[in-house]
Amino acid sequence: MSDGSSFYITTPIFYVNDVPHIGHAYTEVAADVLARWHRQSGEDAWLLTGTDEHGQKILRTATANGVTPKEWADRLVETAWKPLLKTVDIRNDDFIRTTDVRHEVNAQKFLQHLYDSGHIYTGEYEGFYCVGCEEYKQPSDLIDGVGEYAGQQVCAIHSIPCELLHEKNYFFRMSTFADQLLALYEENPNFVQPASARNEVISFVKQGLSDLSISRSSFDWGIKVPWDDSHVVYVWFDALLNYITAAGYGHDDEKFSRLWPATHVVGKDILRFHAVIWPAMLLAAGIEVPRQVFGHGWLLVGGEKMSKSKLTGIAPNQITDTFGSDAFRYYFMRAISFGQDGSFSWEDLSARYQSELANGFGNLASRVIAMVVRYCDGEIPVAGDFSEADELIRGTEKRVTDAATLAIGHLAIHDAIAAIWELVDELNGYITAQEPWSLAKDPADRDRLEAVLVTAVRGLGTLAVLLSPVVPQATAKLWTALGGIGLVTDQRIDRAWEWTGGPRVSPLEALFPRIEATVG
Ligand SMILES: [Zn+2]
Repeated sequence: MSDGSSFYITTPIFYVNDVPHIGHAYTEVAADVLARWHRQSGEDAWLLTGTDEHGQKILRTATANGVTPKEWADRLVETAWKPLLKTVDIRNDDFIRTTDVRHEVNAQKFLQHLYDSGHIYTGEYEGFYCVGCEEYKQPSDLIDGVGEYAGQQVCAIHSIPCELLHEKNYFFRMSTFADQLLALYEENPNFVQPASARNEVISFVKQGLSDLSISRSSFDWGIKVPWDDSHVVYVWFDALLNYITAAGYGHDDEKFSRLWPATHVVGKDILRFHAVIWPAMLLAAGIEVPRQVFGHGWLLVGGEKMSKSKLTGIAPNQITDTFGSDAFRYYFMRAISFGQDGSFSWEDLSARYQSELANGFGNLASRVIAMVVRYCDGEIPVAGDFSEADELIRGTEKRVTDAATLAIGHLAIHDAIAAIWELVDELNGYITAQEPWSLAKDPADRDRLEAVLVTAVRGLGTLAVLLSPVVPQATAKLWTALGGIGLVTDQRIDRAWEWTGGPRVSPLEALFPRIEATVG
C-alpha cells in the first residue's frame, strides 16, 4: 500500500517527434518550482520527466529522416529534450524514456494483469484517427477543413484530415468505470484542478464513456501486447504507465510505496487522458489513483496557442540566451496565473525583467550589500534596538512566508511570487524612508544605521530562501554574498523569515544585468 509520504510530481512525457518550444519549458519549470519548494519544505520530493517515444507518428518521422525510430528517439533525447532541462535549470530526480527496458517490461506486467482480471477484450473498431494526436476522434471533435482540405473533416487541433481506420483490437472496458470516476471527482474535489478543468472532465464523463481501443496491429513501433505479439500497445496507454513504471511499479515495491500517488501537472489539452483514462486504468488494476491532476493553460503568442505546427513556436533558448534561465522561470511563473491561459510577449518579458528583477530585486540586493561594505567594512552588524519600522519588515517576512506556503499548497505559483514580491517592494520603500546614507553621516546615528542595515540584510536572506525555487541561480549568488551558511537550497522555506544573518557580506555582481540589445 502507498504510504504517501513523498511529494511525487510529474510533467507529461514529451513526444520526441519534434523539438521543444516554450510551452514544454513552461510545464517543466512549473513542476520544477513545485518540486524545489517541497524539497525545501523538508519533504521527500521527487520530480519525474521524460520522453514518449512510441507510436505511428514517431515511426513516420523517423522513416522520413532515413533512420530507425529508436535512432530518431535517441537523437532527439540527446540533442533536444535533455538539453531543454539544462536550458531552464530543471532539477529532475529521474528521466524516463518509454523505450527504457524498466518501462517496457513493467508496462507489459500491468497490461497482463488487466487482461488476466477480465478488463480487456477483443473487438472490432472503426473510426477516424488523427496521427497528429495519436487518437481516435469522435465526429464532434472534427471541424471543416480549409485551403487544400476544403470539403473534408479535419482534426480541430492539427487542421489535417483524419484517417478512417478499421482494426481488430484489444479494448479496455473503460465504460464500466464511469460511475466510479464520477464518485471520485465528487468525493475529492481536488483530484482535478483548477475548477474549470474539473467541470470539463465531469461533464465529459457524464455523457458516458466508451471502451478504449488499446492496441494497434498496422505497425510495430511500440510495446508488444504480452499475450499477442502481433499487436503493439496504444501509445497513450503505454505513455501514461511511465508515471508508475518510473516509480518502481512491478520491480521496486518499497520505492513505489514511498512515491505513489503522484501529482500530475499537464497541459489542459491532455487533461482527459490524465483525469479520465489514467485513473480508470489504475482503478482496474487496483492501484491508488493520482493525488491530483492539474491542467495548466495554454501559452498564447499573438492570440494563438503555442505550438510548432502553428508556426508560433519559440525555442526556450531564444529567451534564455538573452535573459538567462532565472528570468525565463520568473517571467512565466509570475506573469501567467497558473491554470489559466496566458499571453507571452517580448515586450512584457523585457519590461518585467527590467522593473521587477533588475530594478526591484537585483538592485535592492546590490545596494544593501554595497552599504554594508561601505559603512561597516562588510561586517553584518548585530543590532540592539529595533524600531517599529524594522519590526514591520520582520512582520512582513513572516506574513509573506506563510502566504507563499499556502499558495504553493494550491499550486498557485503566481500568487506565491506575488506575495513574496510584497517583501521586495516593502524593503525598497523601507530603504528609501530610512535613508541609511544620511544616517551614516552622523556618528550619533550609528546604532540606528546598524539596525537598518541588519534589517535589510535579514530581509534579503528571507528573499533568497523564498525565491530559491523560482530563480535558483540568482538566489545562490545572493546567499553566498550574504554570508549564508550552507546552500540556500537546504534552507527551510516554510521558516525562511527565521534567518538572522551571517557574519559578513561579500561583494555581489549584478544579479540581473542591464540588457542592451533589442530582442524579438
Ligand atoms: Zn490531431
